[in-house]
Amino acid sequence: MNQEHKEQDTIFGKIVRREIPADIVYSDDLVTAFRDVNPQAPTHVLVVPNDPIPSVREVSTSHEAALGRMFTVAAQIARKEGVADDGFRLIVNCGDDGGQEVYHLHMHVVGGRPLGRMLPG
Ligand code: AMP
Repeated sequence: MNQEHKEQDTIFGKIVRREIPADIVYSDDLVTAFRDVNPQAPTHVLVVPNDPIPSVREVSTSHEAALGRMFTVAAQIARKEGVADDGFRLIVNCGDDGGQEVYHLHMHVVGGRPLGRMLPG
């Protein structure tokens, strides 16, 4: 890990490097997926790029391979979890107003119950 990545380290970086435990459901050279510790639905998996990007604000063309892989892995997880047919939601929060808590970009794969309107109110 280079110095830049060390400065961006979060709990998700530690999960990617297997330094702390997590229920990892998938990993490859570009992304890691693990169950959210505080699930909001029967299926709630987080997909993260192995190389940390703090948020969508820092995304650049150099990240496109990992970002694309996040979608294909999310679709694969949805099928494997049995939520693909009924539908599911992919969520990427960004920044304070977006409700982002962990500054290692991540995609929530949420499903297994009707999720209602996209935004409250
Ligand atoms: P966000 O608000 O989009 O940044 O989402 C952060 C998510 O990370 C929340 O849903 C948390 O429940 C989840 N989370 C925080 N720590 C862990 C952890 N150690 N393992 C799995 N999920 C976590």
